[in-house]
Amino acid sequence: MRVVKSISEIHTLSRDAHARGRSLALVPTMGGLHEGHISLIRQAKRQCDVVVVSIFVNPKQFDSPKDLTEYPRDLSRDLEILEPLRIDAVFAPSEKEMYPEGFSTTVVPGDVAKQFEGEFRPGHFTGVATAVLELFNIIRPDLAYFGQKDFQQSLVVRRLVEDLNLDVRLVICPTVRDKDGLAISSRNSRLNPEERKAATVLHRSLRHAEQLAHGGESLASKLVAAIREVFAGEPLARLEYAAVVEPHSLEPTERVTSGCVALVAARVGAVRLIDNLILGPAGASPETLLQLALTARHILDAGGLIPGFETESTRLRIAACRECAAIPTILLPPREFLSGYVTTYYPDRGAPRIAVIGRDAPLSPSNFLYNQPESVNRFVRGLFDLLGVKSFTEFKGRFVLTDALRCHSTSPHVAEKGLAYCSQHLRAELKLFPNLETLVVLGDDAYLQFQRHLLERASGGFKPLDDLLQPQGWAREEVRIPTLTERLLKVFYCYHPTLGYKRSPSIAPFLA
Ligand code: AMP
Repeated sequence: MRVVKSISEIHTLSRDAHARGRSLALVPTMGGLHEGHISLIRQAKRQCDVVVVSIFVNPKQFDSPKDLTEYPRDLSRDLEILEPLRIDAVFAPSEKEMYPEGFSTTVVPGDVAKQFEGEFRPGHFTGVATAVLELFNIIRPDLAYFGQKDFQQSLVVRRLVEDLNLDVRLVICPTVRDKDGLAISSRNSRLNPEERKAATVLHRSLRHAEQLAHGGESLASKLVAAIREVFAGEPLARLEYAAVVEPHSLEPTERVTSGCVALVAARVGAVRLIDNLILGPAGASPETLLQLALTARHILDAGGLIPGFETESTRLRIAACRECAAIPTILLPPREFLSGYVTTYYPDRGAPRIAVIGRDAPLSPSNFLYNQPESVNRFVRGLFDLLGVKSFTEFKGRFVLTDALRCHSTSPHVAEKGLAYCSQHLRAELKLFPNLETLVVLGDDAYLQFQRHLLERASGGFKPLDDLLQPQGWAREEVRIPTLTERLLKVFYCYHPTLGYKRSPSIAPFLA
């Protein structure tokens, strides 16, 4: 484990990792490490090749100088905790390194940062966003890990990533709690034994609200009143806010639906603590609840009340994709897997002879031409030009459109584990079409996945797509796909019609 203090050194480490094609995780912390941080680090280790933990007590996010001075700092203790976790590097910059003299830029997040923590700690999220953006730029992680415990913070960072088009995926991990339910926090060490006992009121009040919701109470005001009541019985705690909010906007909600979040903040003695619970079906795992809150907009829109919208297949899908790091992005709502559309749209699976393997176009509602055949968007136009097709009817008669990726990424760079995992689905799906003769592979990710995981070629065993497609903008080969078919299949490799700036000329004459 390297302990790195300078930006240039960590920058080099990151560049080397990327050059070797390794995925890089960042777990940003302020030190005072505990089980909560460790759970993020473990998740990062499971999902990425290289893990960097940053330790930086960011002065810009403290609204009170006293809070900043009293924040626990003990780097050597933190390093001892990290040592057995076998991470690759700790980035522990000084304040001067992060904010040298003359530093004068701040990132001011919008609406989602205004209420709750934003209101009680003015400037807090500006400090968070500024430091997080700087860390992302220095370390260039593929994935970055945050805790549900700071739910509002994860939304602020999500907006930062979406609004500024940052090329990083966020993974939000469930809150780790002590046995009595108190969310673990570096600040807990400042509680005296009496206060420590009293501090469980945050979790107790949230649990009480949750029980009411599971019992059928769907009025948010009733849940908030119940939280207040529990606090009223705890003289050492002073409630700052309690709310039940819509998980995307953090707007207080009137009716509670699955995925809504109950938030509390309180002072116990001199220590300020926050906590939250995601309301969802009774018995749902913390991971499922997180997915609900962070990605299930369509479920909320449907107005489904607690309990019980969740199907086994949703649960399995979430579990499987968390494993490969393809889904835990919180950037996009979940969408149906292609298996659903295959049976819906291709009752005669013997007919198609050509499969087009896109990236995630069919999964994107705006690109999903099967759903909206009249809307000829950029992807559809590009695809039809490439294949020499005039209409959707013609397309459907000759081709099946499938997908290299079933994750929810819009990122131009997809983690290797995601590609590997999704290849299982692709292989299974291609098997459903017994008379395929030709495959058209679109773009970098699909190409990489196809070479590595369907043709099972080693990294050095094929050229980068760009080189392969020189000079005519497309390439062709005949292949046998292990475990798929004994027959030789023709494969055309092309640029993706919408990703990237290069276009392949029409390959229509070769598909006739
Ligand atoms: P901090 O060091 O407090 O800035 O926290 C660093 C990261 O750890 C943040 O993303 C927090 O949300 C996360 N974190 C803090 N406490 C917990 C916890 N009890 N469970 C899970 N994540 C946590």
